[in-house]
Amino acid sequence: MTSSFGTGDLSLLHPLVGADLRVPVGGEPRRYVDLDAAATTSASAGVVRAVQEFLPWYSSVHRGAGAKSQVTSARYEQARETLTRFVGADPATHVALFPRNTTEALNLVAFRLGLTRDDVVVTTAVEHHANLLPWQRHAQLRVVDVDESGTYDAAAVVAALDERPTPRVLAVSGASNVTGWLPDLAAITAAARDRGVLVVVDGAQLVPHRPVDMTALGIDVLAWSGHKMFAPFGASGLVVDRRLLADGEPFLVGGGAVKAVSHEEVVWADTPDRDDAGTPNVIGVVALAAAAAELLAAGERNRRHEDLLVRALDDELATVPGLRRLGPTSGDRLPVAAFVLDGMPHGEVAERLAQEHGIGVRSGCFCAHPYLSRLFGLTPAEVQQFHDDARAGRADRLPGAVRVSCSPA
Ligand code: PLP
Repeated sequence: MTSSFGTGDLSLLHPLVGADLRVPVGGEPRRYVDLDAAATTSASAGVVRAVQEFLPWYSSVHRGAGAKSQVTSARYEQARETLTRFVGADPATHVALFPRNTTEALNLVAFRLGLTRDDVVVTTAVEHHANLLPWQRHAQLRVVDVDESGTYDAAAVVAALDERPTPRVLAVSGASNVTGWLPDLAAITAAARDRGVLVVVDGAQLVPHRPVDMTALGIDVLAWSGHKMFAPFGASGLVVDRRLLADGEPFLVGGGAVKAVSHEEVVWADTPDRDDAGTPNVIGVVALAAAAAELLAAGERNRRHEDLLVRALDDELATVPGLRRLGPTSGDRLPVAAFVLDGMPHGEVAERLAQEHGIGVRSGCFCAHPYLSRLFGLTPAEVQQFHDDARAGRADRLPGAVRVSCSPA
């Protein structure tokens, strides 16, 4: 998107494939405006180049002795190194895995920690379902609530960490996919670390937009999705303290995850092979590593650019009559905004933006039902009613909003 709202140059820092797509609007071709980047970004030209260069070389990974196989295996292992560096982790203590997406990453971690119903996981009302349901499946939740603006204080997390029984895990998002709000991650992670609680961060929104230093923040586990940062679907980042994966059965079992197999017994491979069963998506991993290198090189340049985007969103949305923003409208945020429009259902707003203006946005609940319920101020009885409606096949009655979100610079 190239635009100027009087706040500065908002042209893309990273040339994106498809940035000048034309779509029919009222019978005329119009430049497509993608304001749905929090769901999925386009690939960057740099990522596409990296894939094109690699395509002639891809071959079997880890099992072949041929030249192509060696190149493929080397690129795959280099990507682990790139990813750990990208998020400020120490390769001596942390290892990068490549699950399909953040959802798979967090399911893997929740399984691999061997949680039981006696274990408490502290999480928050802001979370995407991906960072809620895996914990809800395996352990007891202790949920830090949000206020009307959709935010919480680090002090509320500290209070939850200090409740008895002492939690085993703190699982928080680095940034909200609904409102773009950024919690005080440094304060939260420091408190968990001081109390010996494992820190798991859902970085699906944060990592594409902001540099993350896992070592400085004391993060044990960080998960994010490649398709939200210029890489294609199907290869993502999970950087995790090696000790957490050293023992136990992998989440996915099969070839590559083992040292020895008989019908009676299995000897599992060491980390990271233990959690790498099956043939991996090496092309996706090469793309992911290229995207990480590109964002790493951009560094603080992205930050300045995104602050302009946040201001542009705030200014423009404030001019729309009958528009009510959900979530905070001041302070440090990602270029993401959710709103409702008086007298027009969210689905219709999204449809009309697409059809009448060629603008792509997302509408609905953004896989964050508890957060939307809080932002709409629903009572427990109303939430129960929505569950009953959903069970009866009337899920469309759930309240929803429109979300506009900009690509990571
Ligand atoms: N966590 C957050 C904060 C997200 O925004 C998303 C996706 O929108 C996810 C997790 C899940 O990502 P994926 O669908 O790639 O697994």
